[in-house]
Amino acid sequence: MTSSLRIAVIGSGMAGLSCAVHLQAAGHQVTVFDKSRGVGGRMSTRRTEAWQCDHGAQYFTARSEAFRAELARWVQGGVAALWTPRLQVFGDVAAHRPDANLQRWVGAPQMTAPAQWLAQGLTLHLETHVQGLRREAQGWRLLGDAARVLDGAFDRVVLALPAPQAAHLLTSCSQAQDLAAHADAVRMRGCWALMLHYAQPLDLGFDAAFVNTGPLRWVARNSSKPGRVGAETWLLHAHADWSDQRLDLSSELVAQQMLAAFAALGGPAPAAWVVHRWLYADTGPEALADDAARADRGSACLWRPELALGLCGDWLNGGKVEGAWLSGRALAAQIMAT
Ligand code: FAD
Repeated sequence: MTSSLRIAVIGSGMAGLSCAVHLQAAGHQVTVFDKSRGVGGRMSTRRTEAWQCDHGAQYFTARSEAFRAELARWVQGGVAALWTPRLQVFGDVAAHRPDANLQRWVGAPQMTAPAQWLAQGLTLHLETHVQGLRREAQGWRLLGDAARVLDGAFDRVVLALPAPQAAHLLTSCSQAQDLAAHADAVRMRGCWALMLHYAQPLDLGFDAAFVNTGPLRWVARNSSKPGRVGAETWLLHAHADWSDQRLDLSSELVAQQMLAAFAALGGPAPAAWVVHRWLYADTGPEALADDAARADRGSACLWRPELALGLCGDWLNGGKVEGAWLSGRALAAQIMAT
């Protein structure tokens, strides 16, 4: 039996929270750091007094037994629910044929709800950007703004970050250059998201659409998801390649092009819109099909016991919410086993 360790988890997305919850349940003292104002990472919701809209992950599936059991707890806790949108496909149907029998789950009443639920019993340091890592005789030190040391020394450190952000942080640590190179080799794709709101309910005959033509990839009536309140909102995601080619364009230009594509699908002009640029949305199908790289990764996470340093995240395990949760859980198990 390992004695209680001080463990820092950097990143409060689904992978980091899953890892933190499992480690804390085993009796360790866990502190979670995140640069954002709230937990959940890419399972995120933009909220104002008048409207709310999920602008990252849109829904998730539960294929593994372990995640299905976790999802059952979320449903029991009232923080996740089944979403049964009326689905449509635009463009070449063969390019993406949605599985009509797939169960699509969402956080309820917003996508951040499962993360908030998991975070309840954890020690959190939000709005804390970890800028560097230093290994000393007493353990790991995390460095914040102006190289300020954050919260003492840690026995173990977990990086639960998108691959490019993990790579960037690891370059500050001379002992972890192989892990830095590993994360640096992973390409993540961008995604422009456009949130639309309307003064009146808008029924286009579908609640969600896979779009296989033009700039858009996905359209969803956010208001059709369970528990959503406030003004009518819709969400548009642009295609990954289209987004990557326009990451430096102004929000205004991107929004105009996405609105024009939505109009071509029958969508009227909204009362107002808000745009968000995801730099690291997902790893893309090519990355996941890269068998050699996957074999090299060997598991759903990376753990270096000699360094007391581990990595988890969706990019190590399938690029989705379920993969992120399983990755965090796998890393917690490896840390506890050593
Ligand atoms: P993240 O959620 O990215 O968490 C990483 C956290 O680390 C963030 O909170 C970030 O603020 C923090 N962080 C980063 N750097 C630092 C630092 N230096 N210091 C402190 N904190 C830091 N998945 C699905 O299953 N279904 C979908 O439909 C779906 N659609 C998606 C659509 C979009 C546009 C996007 C962006 C993602 C989508 N995903 C979807 C993917 C899903 O959101 C992710 O797989 C999952 O949320 C990843 O969790 P994570 O914990 O690995 O990473």
